Amino acid sequence: MTDAPTKTAPPAIRGSGLPKFSNARGVVETLWPDMPVYLFRPAALVADAKSFATTFRGKTAYAVKTNPHPLVLNTLADTGISAFDVAAPSEFRMARAAAPSSELLYMHPVKSESAIREALAAYRIRHFALDHEGEAAKILREARSLGVPIDELTLFVRLATKGHAVYELSRKFGAAPGHAVELLQRVSRLGAKAGLCFHVGSQIEEADAYEKALRTAQWVRQRAGVPLAALDIGGGFPARYAQDRRKKAAATHAVPPLNLLMPAINRTVEGFGFGDVPVIAEPGRAIAARAFSVLVRVLLRKGQRLYINDGIWASLSDAWTGKLTLPVNLIPEPDRRPAKGDPRTLAPFRIMGATCDSVDILTRPFWLPETVSTGDWIEVGHIGAYSLSLRTDFNGLYPDTFVEVEQPFRATG
Ligand SMILES: *Cc1c(COP(=O)(O)O)cnc(C)c1O
Repeated sequence: MTDAPTKTAPPAIRGSGLPKFSNARGVVETLWPDMPVYLFRPAALVADAKSFATTFRGKTAYAVKTNPHPLVLNTLADTGISAFDVAAPSEFRMARAAAPSSELLYMHPVKSESAIREALAAYRIRHFALDHEGEAAKILREARSLGVPIDELTLFVRLATKGHAVYELSRKFGAAPGHAVELLQRVSRLGAKAGLCFHVGSQIEEADAYEKALRTAQWVRQRAGVPLAALDIGGGFPARYAQDRRKKAAATHAVPPLNLLMPAINRTVEGFGFGDVPVIAEPGRAIAARAFSVLVRVLLRKGQRLYINDGIWASLSDAWTGKLTLPVNLIPEPDRRPAKGDPRTLAPFRIMGATCDSVDILTRPFWLPETVSTGDWIEVGHIGAYSLSLRTDFNGLYPDTFVEVEQPFRATG
């Protein structure tokens, strides 16, 4: 018997080179870690990237800021993601290090002149966002001085949007519809290709966020009356976290899962007449969230409070700002007597972070078996987005240990 040679080889994904374990319990048994450990799950990253890229009708450009770790960028590049949304020269470098021929879209609406030059000259970036005529002038001036033909540029006018998301960005960026009409006309008059873009905010909380933005985009396009070269619908696609069990209202503005949301967005894009232009999306959170969990330890239990060895200045800043309830999985310390109670009953625990300050307290509890005690480990799931990139070494606590795990994350209970 020989191996069947007809089976097509799976796409080559670069190995992480990390020590491998089957799950968090295996990590505990081997490393007995006292500092947080990041558990990388390449299979989850590949699955979520593929499912986004196949359900979205346009081009998928991963938002590098969400998680720029080479483990993530290399895996995404090997999975076939060939476009990246970048916001600064170090992100250009990281994206091209992972994917040398990738297309980079510089979608930060306010850029430094030196970064624009570097984008145009060293990285041959030709896609830029703006929300003001002053920014258009900066980009054009740099392009002219470098001899870059203006008609090679696609300048995306960023629209302000309204709607609910965990992070609302239209207070900071975006042109109001009337202003966007003028900007589109200006970009076109200057000889660049005109694009429209928006970013509804991160972790949307309303299913119709994209519909509202697309309605505005349609109005702006019709009023402007110039050819549209591309539409970029930004990020914001929600990742799955846990439900705060105290909040019955959580279901009232529930956003459907991505496998239902994406076809609805595709239909809405068509419905507003954008079926004839190239469409781009810039997902970050929806692709990166499940790729990592972090294994933390309970340093001390005081009643319903747990003091852990991680916090908002390390891996949990996004959960704090975004008031996210994170899914958790308890790994009791073997041989230690558990606290009294029923291991099958979950209770909310207030999470006190590792640093010596009073801000470092999570805004949402962890729901854990009431038997959790000092010395136990907690695997905090779905922290792949906005965790590694927001770590600080405040108080000298900078978690930086990585392992790979094979089994999917499972929350306790
Ligand atoms: C941060 C950001 C994204 C990614 O947002 P997610 O909510 O993580 O999907 C996409 N586009 C722009 C312009 C951003 O600033």
